Amino acid sequence: MENRKFGNTGLTPSILGFGMMRLQKKADGSIDEEWAVRTLRKAIDNGLSYVDTAYAYGDSERVTGLCLQDGYREKVTLATKMPISMLGCEDDFERILNEELERLQTDHIDCYLLHALSDERWENYVVKYNVLAHMEKAKAEGKIRYIGFSFHDSYESFTRILNAYDGWDFCQIMLNYMDVNYQAGIAGLEDAHEKGLAVVIMEPLRGGGLANVPEEVAKLLPKSPVESALDFLWNMPQVNVVLSGMSTTEQVEQNMEYAGRAHAGMLTEEEVHAMLMAGNKMRQTISVPCTACGYCNVCPNDIAIPDIFAMFNRAQQDGDGVRAMKEYRALKERNQSGCIECGACAAACPQHINIPEELKKVHKRWGEK
Ligand code: SF4
Ligand code: SF4
Repeated sequence: MENRKFGNTGLTPSILGFGMMRLQKKADGSIDEEWAVRTLRKAIDNGLSYVDTAYAYGDSERVTGLCLQDGYREKVTLATKMPISMLGCEDDFERILNEELERLQTDHIDCYLLHALSDERWENYVVKYNVLAHMEKAKAEGKIRYIGFSFHDSYESFTRILNAYDGWDFCQIMLNYMDVNYQAGIAGLEDAHEKGLAVVIMEPLRGGGLANVPEEVAKLLPKSPVESALDFLWNMPQVNVVLSGMSTTEQVEQNMEYAGRAHAGMLTEEEVHAMLMAGNKMRQTISVPCTACGYCNVCPNDIAIPDIFAMFNRAQQDGDGVRAMKEYRALKERNQSGCIECGACAAACPQHINIPEELKKVHKRWGEK
């Protein structure tokens, strides 16, 4: 598997990174630790060397720490994230970072990110709580090696944050062949690369939405939907690592195989153009731009938000609205009828979806009349 120079850091991680957000779960909803340890270690043995987790991914940091015992910690570039929206005072930074080091069973984090920056979070947390000074102190103390940020806001916001600080080593942005002009987009990728930052890509498959595409989209892709989507990113030399949130052994084996034969410049201009056309078509088939990240799972009434949006989008793609309506009604009080419009979900959504309003649209179509 190809390893690319990671900006100016001196690191050279593999082009495929293991996203630890969507690990396989057991029937009781907890992470299948035995699967995670066995699968991540096998991937590392076969050349994968970038592992990404976050404080906010439930039990993921602790399980990642477990996976990286027995000498595996030294074999990878380990990335995790400060949940800046949880900061309530300046002292919280060090408290949370120390907790992360403990969960991960390590004395340092290679790549440390401010999680999901936006204009709002920049002002209300990063500036307010002097976060960059705390990052630099942690770097000087050796607790973190490189400073970065993950991002969910407009391109204009991205350039403001990119240019607001000279100490960025890397950034993590959402990019795939459907979202080339969404959020940071390709323009943001190029801006960051020109400034010498390494760029890590998240949501290459849009939460799995690009793994199963309608026939009219599939016929424009050079290979299978998943391999095409990953190749679209690896084809660009400005891309350093593509994260995949893998949750089955088959996904890991497939992605490792795809990464093993990928390299920059592998697609022809015609293939890239056809994929951009495929992305245009794909956008027309999606009603709600949900990536199934699950950040909205903060609902006091346990409304099944990602499931509902997945049903809504799938019905538009495959035309089977009757089946989707039955599934929706079977959710009973977990569908929009249980929503009290508190707004907690929308505040947590990195895609800035007006969730209560979108849920109302679904209910208007499928709710019991
Ligand atoms: S607005 Fe509705 S769906 Fe969203 S968190 Fe509140 S109750 Fe749940
Ligand atoms: S609605 Fe937003 S927060 Fe919820 S799963 Fe979709 S993208 Fe994530």
